[in-house]
Amino acid sequence: MGDKPTAAMVLSLIGGLFVIFGGAALAFVGSLIGSLNVTGTGAASSTALGLGIAGVIMGIIMVVGGFMMYSKPTSAKMWGVIVLILSIISWVTALGGFFIGFLLGLIGSILALTFKPTMAPGAMPPPMMSSSMPMGSAPMGSMGMTCKNCGASIPAGATRCPSCGANL
Ligand SMILES: [Zn+2]
Repeated sequence: MGDKPTAAMVLSLIGGLFVIFGGAALAFVGSLIGSLNVTGTGAASSTALGLGIAGVIMGIIMVVGGFMMYSKPTSAKMWGVIVLILSIISWVTALGGFFIGFLLGLIGSILALTFKPTMAPGAMPPPMMSSSMPMGSAPMGSMGMTCKNCGASIPAGATRCPSCGANL
């Protein structure tokens, strides 16, 4: 897999187009019912028209999401969530994008959600400071002095060796 979610982009884009078509079809059906002017269908007509227009807008957002997850792979997860939600809601607003829009949006969003940029910042931890420090600069506090006479370790500030009593 490359460092750009190409498949997720293509599927979200085409899925979005089908959702746009589905929303337009629903809006068209809504206006058609309205134009028939049959008593009692007014509410259904305006509902279908409103949902269809919302579906078209959602389809456009899915297309934009496809472009965004490609141009900014680090935002692929966020757009994956958006495309996933819109794909599911498209059943209400856009006839599921004739099912194809729903299916492509679903697969595209899952690909976007599982996408891992190969050059993700922060994937590699910075090298530890202590390992790169020169060996000569040992901390001053634990100065391990040893007696020149017997080799025993002497606490800092002592004037005589606690082991053999030699002057330091
Ligand atoms: Zn000593």
